[in-house]
Amino acid sequence: MFDPAKVSRLNVPRWEAVYRCEITEGVVSFVAVHDISRGRALGGCRMALYVNESLALTDALRLSRGMTFKNAIADLPLGGGKSVIVCDPKVSGTEREHILEEFGKFVAWVNLEQDRYYTAEDMNTTVADMHVAKRHTQHIFGTSVDPSPYTAWGVFSGIKYAVDYFAMDLFEGHRDIEGKSVLIQGLGKVGMTLCQYLYEAGAKVLVTDVREDACAAAAETYPGIDIVPVDQVFNVDADVFAPCARGEVINRHTIDDLRFKIICGAANNQLQNSKMGAKVQKKGIVYCPDYVANMGGVCSIQYLEIEQLSEQITRENIERTVRKMLGLTFRAGFRNNLPFNKAVDLVVKQIVWGKPKEDAGLSNADLFPLTHTVEPT
Ligand code: NAD
Repeated sequence: MFDPAKVSRLNVPRWEAVYRCEITEGVVSFVAVHDISRGRALGGCRMALYVNESLALTDALRLSRGMTFKNAIADLPLGGGKSVIVCDPKVSGTEREHILEEFGKFVAWVNLEQDRYYTAEDMNTTVADMHVAKRHTQHIFGTSVDPSPYTAWGVFSGIKYAVDYFAMDLFEGHRDIEGKSVLIQGLGKVGMTLCQYLYEAGAKVLVTDVREDACAAAAETYPGIDIVPVDQVFNVDADVFAPCARGEVINRHTIDDLRFKIICGAANNQLQNSKMGAKVQKKGIVYCPDYVANMGGVCSIQYLEIEQLSEQITRENIERTVRKMLGLTFRAGFRNNLPFNKAVDLVVKQIVWGKPKEDAGLSNADLFPLTHTVEPT
């Protein structure tokens, strides 16, 4: 039974509000609301076991700040938050149902005074779990939209934009995706759809996945694509590398072998650490920051579920926003002599906190007039 007396508010400087609650006996949950200056916070709920409670809190804080950045770069009227349920994610049956019901009551309690935090499915939680939590709170999004095709659409838009933007430097002025080679790592929910978009656009598609059945399915559906063995990924010469499997694929073991011109994919935290951004740039490779490239999923929740916009407008909005934010990132990088993984953070800070309101109506070109690059048509 949810007991408000078991909720404590933690004092975390620079976070809007952070709460801890023992939602059922022995199961603690944290809700971290990082920033709501752009609107109510949205960020999913993770279920996991941690070495200790303080690491669970750290995870919630880190991820909630990440959501502020992601929602801001996606140009959504949303702030950043995240929640964590500290328990074995394999918990099932009535015990799982009970935990999620109590979690739902906790989220409702967090929003009692102010509409400030919305949750969604995340690592080790499912849409079905969120429907259980929804019995006690309306503060849940993402139960009626599958975000993956829109994430793929955002990555596809990013690849096209980067090819276009750097056409003079990298492709002898050829600005179109047609004929460019793109290696997709991971043929899951995002990668398989990305494969379709690239194939239909006339790109030369190469794919790799640890699941042989996924590779076989792609080869059958899209005749002519190349299958690359998993351990040969970094021996491939492709124009674009689209990591859509897991994080930290750009790391100290792989960095020297990279022979791509552009990296743009859906995986979160593609760089092992922020220094990798500078190393990638030094090799002359354009890195499209992960949280710009994969914004399409969160955008689809805002546009389709919250605003009930049409499919077509949703896709147009995603493409426009990915292009705009990549453009801002590239120009911020050039102006401030920063690798793009750092430039994007600078852009977000300006969007969320650093710019006075009168800048809101300015265009990208007004904000970043000194660009040495060619603007895509
Ligand atoms: P998924 O689990 O459906 O697909 C991942 C695929 O990668 C699987 O087919 C898996 O077999 C493959 N894979 C795993 N390790 C591999 C390896 N070493 N080499 C090659 N293939 C490997 O995941 P997804 O939903 O398609 O998401 C892909 C990535 O994008 C994840 O990192 C995810 O966190 C991120 N992401 C996804 C979304 C979304 O809307 N689904 C949104 C934002 C970010």
